[in-house]
Amino acid sequence: MSSFLQLAVNVPSVTGVFDYSMPDHLAGRVGIGQLVIAPFGKQTVQGVVLRFLEQASVAHTREIIELVDPDPVLTSSQIAFAESLAESTLSPLASIIGLLLPPGLNQQADTLFAIREQATDPGGWEGAGPGIPARLLKLLRERGPLRGRQIDRHFSRVDWRRSAQSLLERGVLSSQSVLPPARVRSKFVRTAQLAVAPEIARSGLDDLGSTEATRTRRQKALRFLIQQPDPVNVSWIYAQSGCNLSDLQELADRELILLRETEIWRDPLQPLEHGEARLGQLALTDEQQFAWESMERAFSQAAAGKPIKPFLLDGVTGSGKTELYLRAAQEAIRRGRQAIMLVPEISLTPQIVRRFLVRFPGQVGLLHSRLSEGERYDTWRRARSGMLKIIIGPRSALFAPLPDPGLIVADECNDDSYYQSEPPFYHAVNAAQLYARICGAVCILGSATPSIVQRYQAERGESVRLELARRIASEPVAAAQRAKSLDLPPVQIVDMRAELRAGNREIFSRELTEALASTLGRGEQAILFLNRRGTATYVFCRDCGHVVKCPRCDSPLTYHVSSGEQLICHRCGYQRQMPKRCSECHGASIRAYGLGSEKVEAELQALFPKARSLRWDWETTRQKDAHEIILSHFAAGRADVLIGTQMLAKGLDLPRVTLVGIVLADVGLFLPDPFAAERVFQVLTQVAGRAGRSSLGGGVVLQTFVPGHYVIQTAARHDVKGFYQHELDQRKRLGYPPFSRLVRLEFRHHDPAKAEAEAHRLALRLQKRAQAENWKTLSMIGPAPCFFSKLGGDFRWQIILRGSDPASFLAGGLPDHWRIEVEPVSLL
Ligand code: ADP
Ligand code: ZN
Repeated sequence: MSSFLQLAVNVPSVTGVFDYSMPDHLAGRVGIGQLVIAPFGKQTVQGVVLRFLEQASVAHTREIIELVDPDPVLTSSQIAFAESLAESTLSPLASIIGLLLPPGLNQQADTLFAIREQATDPGGWEGAGPGIPARLLKLLRERGPLRGRQIDRHFSRVDWRRSAQSLLERGVLSSQSVLPPARVRSKFVRTAQLAVAPEIARSGLDDLGSTEATRTRRQKALRFLIQQPDPVNVSWIYAQSGCNLSDLQELADRELILLRETEIWRDPLQPLEHGEARLGQLALTDEQQFAWESMERAFSQAAAGKPIKPFLLDGVTGSGKTELYLRAAQEAIRRGRQAIMLVPEISLTPQIVRRFLVRFPGQVGLLHSRLSEGERYDTWRRARSGMLKIIIGPRSALFAPLPDPGLIVADECNDDSYYQSEPPFYHAVNAAQLYARICGAVCILGSATPSIVQRYQAERGESVRLELARRIASEPVAAAQRAKSLDLPPVQIVDMRAELRAGNREIFSRELTEALASTLGRGEQAILFLNRRGTATYVFCRDCGHVVKCPRCDSPLTYHVSSGEQLICHRCGYQRQMPKRCSECHGASIRAYGLGSEKVEAELQALFPKARSLRWDWETTRQKDAHEIILSHFAAGRADVLIGTQMLAKGLDLPRVTLVGIVLADVGLFLPDPFAAERVFQVLTQVAGRAGRSSLGGGVVLQTFVPGHYVIQTAARHDVKGFYQHELDQRKRLGYPPFSRLVRLEFRHHDPAKAEAEAHRLALRLQKRAQAENWKTLSMIGPAPCFFSKLGGDFRWQIILRGSDPASFLAGGLPDHWRIEVEPVSLL
């Protein structure tokens, strides 16, 4: 038995890995993955045991104090996972361990101290004056057994634990670690409902407050409730009217509405309907069957301890991928193992969640960003105990402490939200592959539009590509019948330059206006999509579509009002004035482009005053539950047109949508980022796939100023292969991933001169080191200001390292105070 051990210490103020020694009284009781308490400087902190050591790396080690929980908080697979993730992302190990521990564990775990019944007072501490042991004993005598955190409150800034330790050793005190059991608390939601006849409510509309703004908010809220017969969740009213709780209270005080609290079980899954159990298990289509046989083989190989490759399940939306995830989960459970199901954002994928719930009642745990710490901790505990067989959630679900994960799925694996863009930086899809390898789990990466890198991986045989090329009808009626395949909706490209020439300066082309009119006329639904990433950034000619670019590095220039209408290159720092005329066609229609969803909604209202529209964007989804509410209202047919941004592209299934209007496809296309084209292509193909998901059919109208651009052309044909070929050639020519690897180093400082100076200093240092160490394939881009050059008051500068293995180069000497991203998903 080694007498040294290595701890990952993780409290907000300290993050690191340190060596300790084992006190005799804990020898044999402490194992790997357990949570212990250890001294750290003057504090006592919690730490996780990573490994035992023969030798400590420092001359003097301190002893750990006690064991918190007899059950390990990390499995050995998780520790191995943390170590390799830390290594591949160049992150401190303790920061990765921090991801694996449930938030609030520090608060949850505690020690209960009590005075032993039979204890005498060998040291005569009690009554011995003002010493800490005496105070501690007096306290416990008076109050009975107390938890460490309760004792803390009586000893501000005093290390009573050391005294407690010696009292423990002398048998005066006993201690017991306590981790409170998972609690079940009920929770309330507020609802509002009209309390009077609509006429009475209407007559009260004028007199709702003294200021214009207040009155307008309350009027909107009341008007909304006049139209709603049933009680409505208040978040939904907030989203619709911009009102707040005190407005509703005011309306309730005036007895116009009823404001109630309804108790709900806090299981976030509960509100979902359970009516779909009848679907049971479907007979697979031929394509599904073929894919399933490979997966089944992989499960057997994994069971035999053989290494298996991840699957890239490449299937258009509605082609039956989820059905395969369900099967695979069932297979993992049948083999006595568990499953992790990653989704980009849980509130956008209620349908997947619901299907898992129905298929595996009582066995699914859900993690999402709006769970309280207590809820999260409960789920963590139930996962650790093996009670939950399936964990569904965004990237954090990967860190659930399942005893033996046999399946890890990442749905929509191309989604950028899998990338954690704050330290510790990691890509959950790459991490999922790593963890699956460590656990011997089957790994399925599903997508309608796998990323260039993911496809290339499959092409090189690093993963196994399985294709589902055909859609299956999604209507409940149709699903019950024989599965039939549907074609992808036709996409009509509208050249907005021609619209301008024809005198139409509106947001909507004539084609889109007509398509909207006929969709609304048939009582069907439409989606208007705004690709808003990078709004109001690039500058282009509305006559010929020419984009203003940097003469030095050919990347599109960006428009900055704040610096006097300057155009700036974020690669090299080149600046110029906003041109008066287009250098190509000499026309005067040169503009910076930007467009918001409010503006689109206003335009829609002007054209179709009767259409009921819903906005789904940043503003309307800040409220808790807003995503689900907006989605469910739209799905229930309470609005005709849904206007929204990126989120719309994600996994929703809306059978009554027969028209998707892409208001401007080009936004984001000309950003100075090698991944920009791919991002736009993906969002366009995904959103186009939202139309015609039922036998009603449907179509897409795509508005653009650059109809000939390969991204627009291939997206309009749903031509993933064509795009892939073109983009891959482009990347090869420019030497971007997958033909190189990137590391991005970013420095932030509130003083622009300091930020710039530090960027140059490091660049020079790295260059010298690369030369000295003879790194031949390594090159450097920058230093240059980031595209989003200022963030929260800080100026951002970046250096990009490019080569076959820039991370290894950097691992030889990590710069302090820099943010380091290995294989970033964006260079903006
Ligand atoms: P994806 O995950 O690729 O979008 P889904 O698994 O959601 O696809 O399948 C699309 C629709 O087809 C769903 O309504 C699903 O219930 C149905 N479906 C899937 N597989 C089958 C099958 N083998 N037979 C009949 N219906 C199916
Ligand atoms: Zn430039």
